[in-house]
Amino acid sequence: MSTTVTEQQVPDRPPTADARAERAARARVAAARLSAEGVDGVVLGWVDNAGLSRVKTVPVRRLEQAAAWGVGAAPCFDVFLVDDSITDSRWIGGPAGDLRLIPDLDRLVRLAGQPGWAWAPADRFAQDGTPHPGCQRRFARRMVAAARQRGLELKAGIEVEFVLALAGPPAEPPAYPTSGPAYGMHRLTDLSDCLRELLRALDEQGLAVLQLHPEYAPGQFEVSVAAEGPVGAADTTVLVRQTIRAVAARNGLRVSFAPVVEPGGVGNGGHLHLSLWRDEQNLGQGGPGPYGLTAEGESFLAGVLAELPALLALGAPSVASYLRLVPQRWAGAYQCWGLENREAALRLIPGPPDEGPGAANAEVKCFDATANPYLAVGGAIAAGLAGLDARRALPPEVPGEPSALPEGAVPRLPAGLAEALSAYETSGVLREALGEPLYEAVRAVRQGELTLFADRSAQEIAEATRWRY
Ligand code: GLU
Ligand code: MG
Repeated sequence: MSTTVTEQQVPDRPPTADARAERAARARVAAARLSAEGVDGVVLGWVDNAGLSRVKTVPVRRLEQAAAWGVGAAPCFDVFLVDDSITDSRWIGGPAGDLRLIPDLDRLVRLAGQPGWAWAPADRFAQDGTPHPGCQRRFARRMVAAARQRGLELKAGIEVEFVLALAGPPAEPPAYPTSGPAYGMHRLTDLSDCLRELLRALDEQGLAVLQLHPEYAPGQFEVSVAAEGPVGAADTTVLVRQTIRAVAARNGLRVSFAPVVEPGGVGNGGHLHLSLWRDEQNLGQGGPGPYGLTAEGESFLAGVLAELPALLALGAPSVASYLRLVPQRWAGAYQCWGLENREAALRLIPGPPDEGPGAANAEVKCFDATANPYLAVGGAIAAGLAGLDARRALPPEVPGEPSALPEGAVPRLPAGLAEALSAYETSGVLREALGEPLYEAVRAVRQGELTLFADRSAQEIAEATRWRY
C-alpha cells in the first residue's frame, strides 16, 4: 500500500535553508503551470476547531514566496466559534502573535468548480518555522506516524452528505430544488446538469469518486470517494465539500453540510471509514476474530468503540450534532458495533465481493461534517492505537435495532455536546495524543459553543448553523 509524502511526519525543527529553497523551486514550477492554465489566485486552506474551513489567498505569482516562508495567519483562529465570535484558551488565543500557513504542494490543485483558482491545504507553523502545536493537520500526521512506528498503516475515507437548497436569503426557510423522493431518480433528473458538472469537477481534480446518490432527507445527496491515507482523506473531504459548494453556487443553489437542516428530520453525516494494515495485509479480514478480524484489527476497533463518547467532542463537535445523533436515523447513536448495522456507531463492513480482498473496513457512523476532519481521523487513530496497546476485545455484537432492546442493554452515546465534552475532559488518551495546547483550544471552543447556544431551541440552533459549515 502506498502512502503519499503528505502522510510523512513534519520535523519539529525549523526547515533548513535547503528545504526552503526546494519548496520554493517546486512552487515556482507549479505556479508557472497554473498560470499557463489561467489560474490567478491560490487558496491556502485550513479547518478550525469549530469545523469551519478558513482561507487566505495569494496571487499565483506569490506562491513561491508562500511555499518558502508561508503566509501570515493569527493564532486566535484556533478559538473561533461557529458564529465567528472568538473565545480564549489556556495556551492559544488573544489578539497577539502570528503564524505561517505553508501550502502542501503535494495537494495543490486547480479548482475545477472555481475557474481561475487553485487550492492547497496548509500546515501552520510558528514564525521561526517550528510546527504550531495547534495545527490539526500535523496532529493527524503525528497519529499516522504513531501507527507507523508500530508497523501499521491506515486507509480512510469520509462520506460527504449534503443538502441542496435554492440560493435565497439565508434567513428564509430552505426551499429545495427537487421534491423527488429519497434515493429517487426524480432528484437526479431535476438536477441532472448540476450533478454532472459536479462529477466532472471532482474528476478533473483527481478525486476518485465511488458514488453520487440522492439521500433520504429533502434535497439531500451524498458523494463517496475511494479510501486513501488518513491525512489525504481529510484533505479530500475539504476539497470535495469546496467543490460541491462551488458547483452549487454556479447553479443558483446553496449547500448545507450541517448536521441538520431542519430539526426532527434525517441529518447529514460525515461517516469515517477506516481500515488497518500490516505488511500490506488488511487486519480486518482473514483472522480468527469476529467476521475475520485479526487480533490487532479487533483491538484497534475496540479502542475506537470504547473512546467514542470522548471522540464525539472531535467527530460530532457542535451543539447541532446532537439534533442529528438520535436513534432510528442511521446516524449511529448507540455505543455498539454490528455487521452492516446502520444503527450501530461502529458498522463493520466486510467489503463487497467485487472489491476483492482488502475492502474490509469499519465505519464510524456517529461523526458528522462539523468535525475538523484532521481531528476526527487523528482522534480515531489515537483511540484505536490505545485499544491495540491494551489488547482490548470487542464486546458482543448488536445485530439489529438497538432501540428495540430493553433500556440500558446497549449504551447510548452522549445525547448532547455537554455530555461528550465531559467524556473528552476525562479522556487521557485524547489529551495525550492532542497535546495540551490543541486539547485545551478544542475544549474552549466546545465550551464556547455550549454557552452560545445554551438557551436556544432546536429550531434556533438549526437556523443559526444551517449555512455555516
Ligand atoms: N444521513 C444519515 C446520517 O445522518 C446516514 C444515512 C446513511 O446511512 O447513509 O448519518
Ligand atoms: Mg449516506
